[in-house]
Amino acid sequence: MINCNYVGGENIDETLRFVNIINEKNGDRGIRLTSIQQRVLNRYDFYLNHFEEIENMENSIFSIQETDYKNDLKHCYKVGTNTFRIIRGEIFNSQSNQLKAYCPYCLLNTPTTLDHYIGQTEFPEFSVLIKNLIPCCYVCNKKKDDIWRNNNRRRYIHFYNDNFLNNRFLYANLEFNNSDVPNINFELIKPPNLTDYEFEIISWHFEDLDLRNKYIERSNAILSSEIQIILHSYERGNTIDTIREVVRDKYIYTTGFGLNYWQNCLYETISNNIENIININ
Ligand SMILES: [Zn+2]
Repeated sequence: MINCNYVGGENIDETLRFVNIINEKNGDRGIRLTSIQQRVLNRYDFYLNHFEEIENMENSIFSIQETDYKNDLKHCYKVGTNTFRIIRGEIFNSQSNQLKAYCPYCLLNTPTTLDHYIGQTEFPEFSVLIKNLIPCCYVCNKKKDDIWRNNNRRRYIHFYNDNFLNNRFLYANLEFNNSDVPNINFELIKPPNLTDYEFEIISWHFEDLDLRNKYIERSNAILSSEIQIILHSYERGNTIDTIREVVRDKYIYTTGFGLNYWQNCLYETISNNIENIININ
């Protein structure tokens, strides 16, 4: 897993873009949005500068009592103005090649949607805040829905702000029994550098998106063919060390997806189990 590239900040001023967006809204909606502009920008300031406290935020007043404003704010996202269409394009285009191809939340599917990290239903004021818009596949976006915290604890990795992804926490294990193909399992292990809370966020992220089961499904398909390749290679007279090197190269060359990329973990455990694989049957 790897972080997304945030296009806001120095490149795109969040405040200025919000002002541009509401200036492009016509009639009563434009007037109403202008009247709450400063209040929304105060909320922007909190998100952008006090993210470490964000899980303790009180529910938004726009959401609870001010439903007209709530609809206006959601309208800024749903019915995109010219400014917002450009921002949307820039968010996708500025990602690494890896994250143009794969959703950061799962690294399995193509990111075709933008996830509101903090959902619009609860916090409509963040509907077009770039920091809150993360490229995401349809499956993860639907599964995540509006749930981003529980009992004032965040439940998902924030791919712009959370900077712990360089620590290894995902591991794959092969379990050999009497069948042709060993069982594969993925487990999360807390790295020493992570706080309990950071590791809790990762654990919820995996749990809520059902990532371990999805990785097992994908891995089983790869594993069967890798085992055939290894067995043929051994039959042709290659040594265990040579075979191990070939498999090891496969995970070294996928490091662009980070230390916790499920395929790296899979190839790592295969390379550590060449002898066991050759002894199958
Ligand atoms: Zn996804």
